[in-house]
Amino acid sequence: MGVQTGLKKKLFIDGEWIEAQNYTSLISPYSEEIIGEIPTATEEEVEKAIEAAYRAREVMAKMPAHKRSAILEKLVSLLEARADEAAEIIALEAAKPITITKGEVARTIQTYKFAAEEAKRIHGETIPLDAAPGGENRVAYTVREPLGVIGAITPFNFPMNLVAHKVGPAIAAGNTIVLKPASQTPLSSYFLADLLHEAGLPSGALNVVTGSGRVAGEKLVTDPRVQAITFTGSPAVGIGIRNKAGLKRVTLELGSNAALIVDKGVDVDKIIPRCVTGAFSFQGQVCISLQRVYIHESLFDTFVEKFVDASAKLQIGDPLNPKTDVSALISKGDVKRTLDWIEEAKQHGAEVAAGGRAEGNVLLPTILLNADKALKVSCQEVFAPIVIINKVQSVEEAFELVNDSRYGLQAGIYTENINTALLAAEKLHVGGVMINDIPTFRVDNMPYGGVKESGVGREGIKYAVEEMTEMKLVVFNRN
Ligand code: NAP
Repeated sequence: MGVQTGLKKKLFIDGEWIEAQNYTSLISPYSEEIIGEIPTATEEEVEKAIEAAYRAREVMAKMPAHKRSAILEKLVSLLEARADEAAEIIALEAAKPITITKGEVARTIQTYKFAAEEAKRIHGETIPLDAAPGGENRVAYTVREPLGVIGAITPFNFPMNLVAHKVGPAIAAGNTIVLKPASQTPLSSYFLADLLHEAGLPSGALNVVTGSGRVAGEKLVTDPRVQAITFTGSPAVGIGIRNKAGLKRVTLELGSNAALIVDKGVDVDKIIPRCVTGAFSFQGQVCISLQRVYIHESLFDTFVEKFVDASAKLQIGDPLNPKTDVSALISKGDVKRTLDWIEEAKQHGAEVAAGGRAEGNVLLPTILLNADKALKVSCQEVFAPIVIINKVQSVEEAFELVNDSRYGLQAGIYTENINTALLAAEKLHVGGVMINDIPTFRVDNMPYGGVKESGVGREGIKYAVEEMTEMKLVVFNRN
């Protein structure tokens, strides 16, 4: 636990660490030990953070692009120097296996690098107004202006990189931010605040308020000085935010029950390791975790056998142990919920090919066969190491099953047939189609987001910058 001895655990408002009125114990999901006492911001404390961000917005809006970029570059070098510490912080608060948190830190560094680059290429375009009768003799161009104060609300599952996907583009575009991280993962955000302060970000440009979503989150959503909400989290909370946000810009990155199609003729040996990673990495607590596999009937038996064998090799245990692949779910409640869902699946004819039970707070990697599409494990987001494998007779049948979902974030298809690949790209109703890969593929500059209840808007720095800026038109009349 040495890693967080120097970590400040106070509210970060207007460039200063402020003692809060109330604190709550942060508990390790794996060991159930107390990690630290964390501020739970009151509405008045969030008010102060919003006021600081509101005051700082002109400083940020006037800051030249090269300077915003330089601050983000400095953040990158500070993060690189303290990458091991960052990885341990995530492992501690989220029970994410340390090998995976190292990957998250590497991606966070990438994300801020992309943001540093993107800061220098935010521009508008010229418009040929003479294309319209009456538009002659005019010069017109657009510029993109920062929105002002951005309210960022983030989930527990990628406490550094998903924060980076909001803070990076917000700074790149010259905005200020009030960040409300998930209650279970505040430490990563304190760590970031410290680094950005050291990197020279002006006071008030980033404020971190920890505390409950219902108090701190709702204040951000309803305060008129906050111009946009960028939210990543569950569909239920996201939909509630959209309903309360009025005319605010709202970007929602929500959940899914991501699916993979495996066409006939695919080399099963080649895809098994990717599928195991997609289903069980970070205990399946990834928004594009592989939850549903629809495989051609000719490959079903072989695939199941090899998938079960490969999954049995995963090491269960302490997230801080470098050998651990699968650790605790984020809460005891989620262990109970997922066991209930497995029980429901069993009672309705699904076969448990592996797992199906918990050891402490660790749900063992669970493989269910032939689960009906109406079961919770099929049609809701499991957010746990549970995957269903069902056989299909054709890719057309699989397309229908994939699309028969409230969600649509990403989908994958393995196929040797280019026409089938192109058909999948056309037919699958999702934000991103991965050909010859699992739906879990993501790098940080790609446009990322969903359709249906998986959300509204896109992240991926350049796309998030579009969401966090307003287009303004300028017309010169030369007559
Ligand atoms: P969550 O329960 O929805 O919480 C997300 C954030 O919203 C937390 O900071 C939470 O605060 C806050 N919140 C809760 N109630 C609120 C309210 N009434 N008003 C404003 N904010 C509120 O989600 P989670 O369990 O942390 O994360 C898992 C979910 O995130 C999954 O559904 C997953 O698919 C989704 N996700 C989506 C993406 C994507 O890019 N599409 C990426 C990662 C995760 P508290 O922690 O204090 O409750």
